[in-house]
Amino acid sequence: MTIQVYNTLNRKMEEFEPLHGNRVSMFVCGVTPYDYTHLGHAKTYVAFDTIAKYLTYRGYSVFYVQNVTDVDDNLINRSNESDIPVPDLVKKYFREFLDDMDALGIDSINIYPKATEYIPEILDQIKGLIEKGFAYESNGNVYFEVNKFPDFGKLSKQVLEKLRPGARVEVDENKKNPEDFALWKAEKPGEPTWDSPWGKGRPGWHIEDTAISMAYFGDQYDIHGGATELMFPHHESEIAQAEALTGKEPFVRYWLHTGILNVDGEKMSKSLKNFWRVKEALEDYDPAVLRFFLVNAHYRSPVDFSNELLEEAKQGYERLVETVQNVHFALKWQAKEERASQDDEIDKAVEEVMHKFEESMDNDFNTREAISHLFTFSTKINTALESGLISETLQKVREVYETTGDVLGLFGRETEQDTVVDGLMDFLVEMRGKAREAKDFKVSDEIRDRLADIGILLEDTKDGPRWKRR
Ligand SMILES: [Zn+2]
Repeated sequence: MTIQVYNTLNRKMEEFEPLHGNRVSMFVCGVTPYDYTHLGHAKTYVAFDTIAKYLTYRGYSVFYVQNVTDVDDNLINRSNESDIPVPDLVKKYFREFLDDMDALGIDSINIYPKATEYIPEILDQIKGLIEKGFAYESNGNVYFEVNKFPDFGKLSKQVLEKLRPGARVEVDENKKNPEDFALWKAEKPGEPTWDSPWGKGRPGWHIEDTAISMAYFGDQYDIHGGATELMFPHHESEIAQAEALTGKEPFVRYWLHTGILNVDGEKMSKSLKNFWRVKEALEDYDPAVLRFFLVNAHYRSPVDFSNELLEEAKQGYERLVETVQNVHFALKWQAKEERASQDDEIDKAVEEVMHKFEESMDNDFNTREAISHLFTFSTKINTALESGLISETLQKVREVYETTGDVLGLFGRETEQDTVVDGLMDFLVEMRGKAREAKDFKVSDEIRDRLADIGILLEDTKDGPRWKRR
């Protein structure tokens, strides 16, 4: 079984085959840390984190690079407005970004290189492009001459003629043609600058991605990811820079693009009042719920975000988590009394759900479908738990949730702290049992009430007492 991915470059599903055996090189366009992370970022980065996790699960060794644009117009403008130097803004918001990513369980990125740490590589690429006749200097600026690269437009399927004068392309007297884009920007007052053969200045946006990705992966690599709105001109320009420079194509084998995030049916935008920061969403919702909401859609689909939909996701996720907890408790009791018999049907269901999960994920990382199989499986498990399952089967069921949870970044594996809490709870439940045996209901009720005060619900079931967090 092989993984099929939808490659934007060719607009079709293709078999995933990395350049170098089982090694996968993956680059995703990162943030410009001039403000807090918003839900659009969360959608894209959760998607690529899940893709990296699944590739790892399938035996690939993934090296995932995500750049940080630490010099650009947004940062410079924000710095001028706020009187905070650019490096301080970067430091503050990159830290905030990492906190948000951490909360969302995003941990597959190997390195976050910053653009300004790659100025020598950027200068080398620009020099190379000038030497090969694809770029020219003009008043301290360097531009890529788009009509020298006939393949320009092959990713976004844009026709160059359409970009000609007027529409959308700014007319700049320094440029030979309006569609040419900046590789190097000449110094302007108050802007951070670096020395270059063309005088002081700073890099253009697109060149940082090729300089960084090629520094790690060489002339060609496997996966480039990003939000759909970056396809043109950003990704298109990356292809032009890299392929013009090396003469090798394709620069990137698989281009993967995430669908946009709408809020209440409209594109999220700072000017509309529908702008959500990750932090704001996390004030009302558990990070796992937000992650579940995002992975419960296919990465290429647009996602509509609203409080109602998030509430729905919360209920769905809680149903799954409840089953995971039921299995956890059943395993504890079963260890005490082996009362149930082997259950072939559930053993079969375990095999089936893992097969279907892989089938869905192999199909262009269809997390939505993969999760729907987990729901079907959980319904079966809840029914089976009522009549009891043997530890061996329960163990297999637990592994299903651990394995799929690791890929999707859900269900949180038991931590050391959980084990301590578990032990303390067992002790309290036992003490309460002893109090009840001794007909000391004052103490037994107090234990139950005090636990309720801290949000732990104690229930007496036919299998004995059990507890859960509210
Ligand atoms: Zn980028």
